[in-house]
Amino acid sequence: MAVSVASAAWDSDTMEYYGSQISNLIEQLGSLPGIGHKTAQRLAFHIISLPQEKVEALASALTQARTHVRYCTECGTLTDQERCPICRDPKRDHRTVMVVENSRDLAAYEKTGHYSGVYHVLQGVISPQLGIGPSDIRLKELMQRLQGDVDEVIIATGSSLEGETTAMYISRLVKPTGIKVTRIASGVPVGGDLEYIDEVTLLRALDGRVEL
Ligand code: ZN
Repeated sequence: MAVSVASAAWDSDTMEYYGSQISNLIEQLGSLPGIGHKTAQRLAFHIISLPQEKVEALASALTQARTHVRYCTECGTLTDQERCPICRDPKRDHRTVMVVENSRDLAAYEKTGHYSGVYHVLQGVISPQLGIGPSDIRLKELMQRLQGDVDEVIIATGSSLEGETTAMYISRLVKPTGIKVTRIASGVPVGGDLEYIDEVTLLRALDGRVEL
């Protein structure tokens, strides 16, 4: 059949070209988010061309991470220890808690290097459409934390409908405790994609936060 390798859709023809071992590798790589069939092929051939020990290090990194990474018992971010390095750092301001949607958003704020407080990672947002309610994200844990010494809760969920709904909900929960509640400045086009926003924009959103 006159199908070029580059444009071949994933079908039995491809299996015949490569044999099942390579096909399986391409299929596994292609199941990852953001990896199309062409990229999967490119990665597969790259991996095959690597020295054996490099491939073993890669495979080991995958399985080790999956086995050992868990949620920080304090802030809920992904870590390989009981408490993450941020929560364990005595130099951080533990009285300022920034609430973010996920660990990627935390990483985006950390990259700015200008936030010295701690975080609370929700691991999701309230989304009636997807059937995700307040009890499905880490709000109970947040309220438990706020029983300690906390001066300010900065709500840094995204500006999507879900992010705003979640921010509103948290604000209503926290306000009665008397703790100051602020919201990062709007205009940050988030929605789980804080990592793609430049640091200046993030800092501006943080500096321009308003009290709710
Ligand atoms: Zn932590």
